[in-house]
Amino acid sequence: VRTQVAIIGAGPAGLSLAHLLAREGIQSVVLENRSRDYVEQRVRAGVLEQGTVDLLDGLGLGERLHREGMVHNGLSFHVHGRRIRLNLTELSGGRSIYVYGQQEVVKDLIAARVAAGAPILFEAEAVALDDLTSPTPRVRFLQHGDEDVLECDFIAGCDGFHGVSHQSLPAGKAHVYEREYPFAWLGVLAAARPNEAELVYARNPRGFALHSMRSLDITRLYLQVEPDEPLDNWPDKRIWDELQARLGTTEGWSVNRGPILERGITAMRSYVVEPMQFGRLLLAGDAAHIVPPTGARGMNLAMADARVMASALAAYYSGRRTELLERYSDDCLRRVWRAEYFSWYLTTLLHKHGDTDGGLLDRSQVAELDHLATSHDAAVAFAKNYVGLETV
Ligand SMILES: Cc1cc2nc3c(=O)[nH]c(=O)nc-3n(C[C@H](O)[C@H](O)[C@H](O)COP(=O)(O)OP(=O)(O)OC[C@H]3O[C@@H](n4cnc5c(N)ncnc54)[C@H](O)[C@@H]3O)c2cc1C
Repeated sequence: VRTQVAIIGAGPAGLSLAHLLAREGIQSVVLENRSRDYVEQRVRAGVLEQGTVDLLDGLGLGERLHREGMVHNGLSFHVHGRRIRLNLTELSGGRSIYVYGQQEVVKDLIAARVAAGAPILFEAEAVALDDLTSPTPRVRFLQHGDEDVLECDFIAGCDGFHGVSHQSLPAGKAHVYEREYPFAWLGVLAAARPNEAELVYARNPRGFALHSMRSLDITRLYLQVEPDEPLDNWPDKRIWDELQARLGTTEGWSVNRGPILERGITAMRSYVVEPMQFGRLLLAGDAAHIVPPTGARGMNLAMADARVMASALAAYYSGRRTELLERYSDDCLRRVWRAEYFSWYLTTLLHKHGDTDGGLLDRSQVAELDHLATSHDAAVAFAKNYVGLETV
């Protein structure tokens, strides 16, 4: 098989890249190691920043998002019985966030790709990337037990943190920055009406909690837990009681309960590969960088990378101009490092960090939240980061 761009991974990065390239008349083949059903059901992110919505609108794929998604103009913090609400839209000069599940974005992108008759191979696992510095790199992949080869001009490594792409960077050619946090998130999806129309972040001496939602009838809730916590330690009643204890600290706020549809524990990690390219291999999304989910940035960063990569490849194919390709990594990393900092800041601000510092961090967290509540400038800076920075 031969194509112009081989895209590894049918997540938000790979799928949006495939559409952006098609709009420029550039051919691609998407390889995805899971089944279509699996990737369309995988519950993950749900907060889209304005730039991501603009990207989907620009592709003509925002119709269901605008019909079924929810626009949020603010968020709240619950801290020591106090409620702090930030009006993100006012503070950021008119930008908003949208709540629409990542799996819905993936479904929309796959449906449009299939409808266009463009190639997307499911249950096709990339196992090795060859000849990365030649003009004709190759992806070896396995499908239904047979090995095949995809020849191309460029490889877009959009296969996430566990994929083959970033592992294919030769030793010494990239620097890896990494931090594992000493806690994890227990996430549940429940058939329960959200308590309110916006996100609520709780900073509590028992640990962090987050109230979010996917629709008017489905809540998405998170609890800070130990990193090695077995899921069996958390029967339904314990989950609901703990959510109530952490989130329900302001008067009259009682978490709506309902059947739990899905649950899982997610490790918290910050991770960056620099540079995000080697030869004809360009990385995008979680293959190149991970942020802890507190700042709701990961999917948005993945799609922002895709936009930068598509522009660089369009410049190359329209006139063999390589400047944008050469600075692809630098252009992406400016936004990535800002998001890494903001995600670390919000994670540090809201989580319990153990009792080793004599309460110093605890008191500092409360002081910072008070600052956000009382300083307009601090709230503006927070809101601009949360709704997403202007694109490069
Ligand atoms: C609990 C949780 C909550 C989150 N909340 C948010 C949020 O609110 N907002 C936000 O922006 N982000 C959030 N994120 C992060 C977000 O989900 C990721 O950043 C996003 O999925 C990255 O997209 P991607 O396309 O880079 O990678 P992925 O979505 O991981 O896609 C990579 C794809 O590559 C495939 N693949 C892997 N290896 C191979 C191979 N060898 N061959 C072929 N295919 C392969 C995988 O199956 C997968 O489909 C959250 C994450 C979690 C876990």
